[in-house]
Amino acid sequence: MIDLVVVGGGMAGLAAAAHAAEQGLRVVVLEKTRRVGGSSALSAGILWTAPDMQTMREVVPGGDPELGRVLVEGLEPAVERVRAAGVEVSERWYGQMGFGVAYRADIHALHRHWVDTIEAAGGEIRLDAPVRALRFGETGAVTGAGDVEARAVLLATGGFQGDSELVKRFLGWDADRMLLRSNPGSTGDGFRLAAAAGAAASRGLGGFYGHLVPAPLAAFEPEHYLPLTQYHSRHSILADLQGRRFTDESLGDEVSNQAALRLPGMRAVLLCDERVRREHVIGPPYPHGQVIDRFALASELGANLASADTADALVARVADWGFDAAGLKRTLISYEFGGPQDAPLPAEPLPLREPPLHAVEVQPTLTFPLGGVRVDAWGRVLDRDGRAVEGLYAAGGDAGGLQGPRYVAGLALGLVFGPRAADAVMMDN
Ligand SMILES: Cc1cc2nc3c(=O)[nH]c(=O)nc-3n(C[C@H](O)[C@H](O)[C@H](O)COP(=O)(O)OP(=O)(O)OC[C@H]3O[C@@H](n4cnc5c(N)ncnc54)[C@H](O)[C@@H]3O)c2cc1C
Repeated sequence: MIDLVVVGGGMAGLAAAAHAAEQGLRVVVLEKTRRVGGSSALSAGILWTAPDMQTMREVVPGGDPELGRVLVEGLEPAVERVRAAGVEVSERWYGQMGFGVAYRADIHALHRHWVDTIEAAGGEIRLDAPVRALRFGETGAVTGAGDVEARAVLLATGGFQGDSELVKRFLGWDADRMLLRSNPGSTGDGFRLAAAAGAAASRGLGGFYGHLVPAPLAAFEPEHYLPLTQYHSRHSILADLQGRRFTDESLGDEVSNQAALRLPGMRAVLLCDERVRREHVIGPPYPHGQVIDRFALASELGANLASADTADALVARVADWGFDAAGLKRTLISYEFGGPQDAPLPAEPLPLREPPLHAVEVQPTLTFPLGGVRVDAWGRVLDRDGRAVEGLYAAGGDAGGLQGPRYVAGLALGLVFGPRAADAVMMDN
């Protein structure tokens, strides 16, 4: 008898399966695509979250405090286990996404380590093995997934970003028109399988993680996801088609990205000066971040991009793309001189100073939804009365309730909660 079948061989699934295998559980991982890793294989490998509970509560006051506490307390020991496994991990730094504590790990080496661990313990990883249904016992308990009978099932399918129906239902009308910045396999299977087993949805289903990228784009392939990310929007001015600011840019690109979904045509323009270009657009966006000219790549891919020596000349260029010149001029003046604002000003505003000045049109993208299945702090899937659905667990992007509308973790969710769900399987059986 298999002890644990893991649905999805990405960050949460591999972390859970490797931990379970190390503890002596018989494990099978079922992965829909032909390779393991999911979105984590496309990621920057930054393991990060809020540095302490006070920050966690300030950033996501609506998040479940118990889930937040487990993540805050669990990150450091989990990173130490990665390091102890011989995987390269950077030193710790602070300020990731403005407030987080972070490490960079060699994510591909980590995947290899987990795969080796699972296989060395006699576990199995089946590729090209999409799970379409759960198995149920006579009492209604979950007893396996696909054709694998097991004592417990962990859902780790990464979220519902690839499913236009769930995206429209939870993120809003037209949200399915956003570019997908994710692995293609995360199409809400975990969410639907859990719902069929009686699971409730978590809070925060309307929030999502993604980043602004240039617009329009002739191509948007996985190799473009990181280099086109406009992390520097937090040091820039963002305006909509009417030339109005719509967010406090300093909250972070991932926050502005969500706000951009609600704009007419999902269209916005990012304006910055030469200092911001020099320090952030062509420089590393964070310690160990990719160094590349993000504007040059945008231009190669056909995005609207302009530079000019004066604000008036820049506005005239942006007006050619359909943005309102008078509105944009008013916004720049109000921003610089503290006049009436359409959105809160950053605590430290950064008016356009050093020429040349730059503008790029931007659009929102979707990496994964911040809500998902309702779980307890051990990853047990809960029904609407808060009772555990027997035999069913969820971790990573499939499990919600910790974050939203702001983003506090991606990879770290799988790293911390995946192994924890495996521990829960042992406790519950
Ligand atoms: C470009 C990019 C950069 C990122 N950078 C970072 C970063 O630096 N730091 C960070 O914290 N986060 C980052 N993220 C987010 C992070 O990658 C995700 O939060 C994380 O991978 C989620 O882990 P997961 O296990 O839930 O899903 P995934 O890692 O995506 O794995 C889910 C797996 O489940 C499989 N699957 C889906 N449905 C089924 C099914 N029915 N049956 C079997 N298998 C199924 C999928 O094919 C996939 O392999 C980034 C994401 C992207 C796209």
